[in-house]
Amino acid sequence: MDFKQYITIVENYPKEGIRFKDITTLMQDGAAYKAAIDEMAEFAKDKEVDLVVGPEARGFVVGCPIAYSLGTGFVPVRKAGKLPREVISVDYGLEYGKDSLTIHRDSIKKGQRVLIADDLLATGGTIEATIKMVEELGGIVVGIAFMIELDYLDGREKLKGHDIFSLMTYK
Ligand code: IMP
Repeated sequence: MDFKQYITIVENYPKEGIRFKDITTLMQDGAAYKAAIDEMAEFAKDKEVDLVVGPEARGFVVGCPIAYSLGTGFVPVRKAGKLPREVISVDYGLEYGKDSLTIHRDSIKKGQRVLIADDLLATGGTIEATIKMVEELGGIVVGIAFMIELDYLDGREKLKGHDIFSLMTYK
C-alpha cells in the first residue's frame, strides 16, 4: 500500500519552517490504518516481544494496536506529572522544544523484551530518552517501529545499534 497518500503535510505547524506530517488522515481510513499497524506488527512478530512501549500521545495510537496484534502488554511513556504512580524520568530534546519523559518504575521487569513504537522519528530525542528509561529498568530493546522517518534529521544516528523499522521515509 502507498501509505504516503494518506499523510497530510501541514506547512509551518506547530512553528514556522516545520512541515508537519499529520497521520490523522491515515488513522481515519480503516483499511490504511489496519494495513499500517499490520506491517509494523509483522516487523516485530518473530522478536519474542514481551511489551510494547510508546510515548504519548501518538505512540499510543500506533503502540496499542501493535501490542494487541502481538498479544503483548503496552506500557505508556508520558510527560512529567501525568503518570499516577512512582516513575523514573529523563530529560530530552525535541525537534521543536525540550521536556522530560516518565515511565512507571514497576512497568518493566529485568530481562523483558521491549518493542518501542512511535508515529514519527525526527531528531530521535524522544526515542533515545525512551530507550534510556527502558534500559534503566532492565528491559531489552529488541526493535523500534515508526510509521514515519524524517531521514534528513538523522534520528537514526542517535539510535545506532538498534533494529529500526519505518513504514514511510521522507528524504
Ligand atoms: P524527535 O524526538 O525529534 O524524534 O521527535 C519525534 C516526536 O515529535 C514524535 O513523538 C512525534 O510525535 C513528534 N513530531 C515531530 N515532528 C513531527 C511531525 O512532523 N509530525 C508529527 N509528529 C511530529
